[in-house]
Amino acid sequence: KLYNMVQDLKGNIRVYCRIRPSFSSESKNVIKFIGEDGSVVILDPAKPQKDGRKDFQFNRVFGPTSSQDEVFKDTQPLIRSVMDGYNVCIFAYGQTGSGKTHTMSGPSGGSTRDMGINYLALNDLFQMSNRRKDIIHYDIHVQMVEIYNEQVRDLLAEDSSTIRSCPTDNGLSIPDATMHSVNSTTDVLNLMKFGEMNRMVSSTAINNRSSRSHSVLTIHVHGKDTSGGTLRSCLHLVDLAGSERVDKSEVTGDRLKEAQYINKSLSCLGDVITALAQKNSHIPYRNSKLTLLLQGALGGHAKTLMLAHVSPEEDSFNETISTLKFAQRVS
Ligand code: ADP
Ligand code: MG
Repeated sequence: KLYNMVQDLKGNIRVYCRIRPSFSSESKNVIKFIGEDGSVVILDPAKPQKDGRKDFQFNRVFGPTSSQDEVFKDTQPLIRSVMDGYNVCIFAYGQTGSGKTHTMSGPSGGSTRDMGINYLALNDLFQMSNRRKDIIHYDIHVQMVEIYNEQVRDLLAEDSSTIRSCPTDNGLSIPDATMHSVNSTTDVLNLMKFGEMNRMVSSTAINNRSSRSHSVLTIHVHGKDTSGGTLRSCLHLVDLAGSERVDKSEVTGDRLKEAQYINKSLSCLGDVITALAQKNSHIPYRNSKLTLLLQGALGGHAKTLMLAHVSPEEDSFNETISTLKFAQRVS
C-alpha cells in the first residue's frame, strides 16, 4: 500500500545509486556522505573542501557495505508487480568496473553465493507463482539478447546469429529471439550459464566485448486465472554497456565506432526516460535499438528503475560525476 502511494507520487521512474567498495587502499575516496534519504555528497579530490563539493539526490542510495539482498529487497515490490500485469525495466548504468554485472548477475567467477537481481527476481517470481497457484496459473519464459553496435543477437540460440527485433502492432516489441520456458531456479542457472558462454565466445575476438554491449534478460509472464482472465507482462533486466567516455584522440577505427554506438544508445535511453518523466507527447524510442526493443515496457503504466553504479576511487571522479548527473537527469 505504502509503496504504491510512493510510486504514485513520484511517477513510474525511480533512480537508485549503488557505490561499490573501494579496491585500493592508496586511493582517496571521493564519496563524502551517503544519506538514508538518498542523498550523496561527492568531493573533488583536486579542489579544497567547499568548492569541490557536489550534492546529488536519489530515491535510494546503497553504500559499499550493502549486500545483494538489501539491493534486491528494495527492488522486490517493483519486480513482483510484473505478476500483476505491469511491465517493468531495470537498468544497471555506470562505467566499466563500477559493479553493474555484480548487481545484475552476481560476482565474477560464477559462484552461486551473492547472486544478483536476475536470479533473485526469477526465484521470487517462481515462489509467488507457487503461492498463487490455486487462483492463477503462470507460465514464465525467458529471452536473453545482446545489443552490440546496434545489432541484436540472441544469446540463447544454438548458433546465436544476428537477429533483429520486430516491434508488433500493439506497441509491445518482443525480440525475435528464442523463448525458453523456465520452471525452476536450476533451469534459470543453466540458461544464464549458456547465455554467458555465448557472450564469452564472441568476446575472444574483440577483447572484453561484454562491457561494450548491452545485455537484456527478458522475463515474460503469462497468467491465467480460474475464471479465464489472462494477463501478459514482462520484466527486462538490463546490464548496460560501460558509460565511460573514450578519448577520441586515443582510439580509432572499430574501437571508436563502438564507443560512438554506446554513447548514442545511452544518450537515447536518457532522452527517452527524461521525456517520459516530463510527460512529453513525443518519446524518441526510435533513435536506438535498445529503446525500440524496450518500447512496450517504457512509459504508459510501465515502471522503470535506473540503478546508477559508481566507483569510489579518486581516479574515477570524472566518470562518477558524469554517472550521477545522468542519473539525476532521468529522475
Ligand atoms: P561492471 O559490470 O560495471 O563492469 P563488475 O560488476 O564486473 O563491473 O565489477 C567489477 C569488479 O568489482 C568485479 O570483480 C566485481 O565482482 C566487483 N564488485 C562490484 N561491485 C561489488 C560489490 N558491491 N561488492 C563486492 N564486489 C563488487
Ligand atoms: Mg559488466
